Amino acid sequence: MKTLKIAIQKSGRLNEKSVELLKNCGLNFENYKSSLISPVSNFPLEILFLRDDDIPEYVQDGIADLGIVGENVIQETEVEVSYLQKLGFGKCSLKIAVPNTLPIKNLSELDGKSIATTYPVILGKFLKQKGIESDIRTISGSVEISPGLGLSDAICDLVSTGGTLKSNGLKPFADVMSSEAVLIGRKGSENEDLIKELIQRVQSVLRAKE
Ligand code: ATP
Ligand code: ZN
Repeated sequence: MKTLKIAIQKSGRLNEKSVELLKNCGLNFENYKSSLISPVSNFPLEILFLRDDDIPEYVQDGIADLGIVGENVIQETEVEVSYLQKLGFGKCSLKIAVPNTLPIKNLSELDGKSIATTYPVILGKFLKQKGIESDIRTISGSVEISPGLGLSDAICDLVSTGGTLKSNGLKPFADVMSSEAVLIGRKGSENEDLIKELIQRVQSVLRAKE
């Protein structure tokens, strides 16, 4: 019989909840932190532990059949995958934030300003849709310190509680997108029996939580 593969985050904000969800689906596996693949002993499934950024492409290309990843990462990588189920964890928003001292009120005032982000694709589409021309500065992390260092006028970053913004002297200015973890699959794969079975198990775990 075919063995499915599901890709989940190796470590980070989605790892623990993803592992918990799969265990609650009745899947038995060792949660080895050091290995990239764990076989499931009671279902024809292997779990791949990856960086979240790689998950959408692995699923699109069929290297993994399924994946658990934030909607923000899917949108940023612009892959074609099916959204099989929203999972109710990893909730956050991608927001534009500005220094408390920057006296701007309207979105249009971002025109000509620089915005640092690790999400240039999503931000670029958002600004284009609003007809705003900002200078998007793509950086790979620590976005929130960028205005303080004089590297940008504003930032666009993921926010959950807002604590990180606050402690860096920033305030939320505009919502770009909201996100949560989702179960994704390759386009068309939801009709395969084993995948259907897994989706059903996930859905009953989620229903039991309601
Ligand atoms: P990796 O090492 O896998 O690349 P990462 O550092 O890119 O990890 P994490 O910070 O672990 O990613 O975040 C994973 C996902 O968790 C995000 O893409 C997002 O969907 C979600 N998330 C929820 N709340 C937040 C938050 N406050 N900040 C960042 N991400 C959040
Ligand atoms: Zn990442």
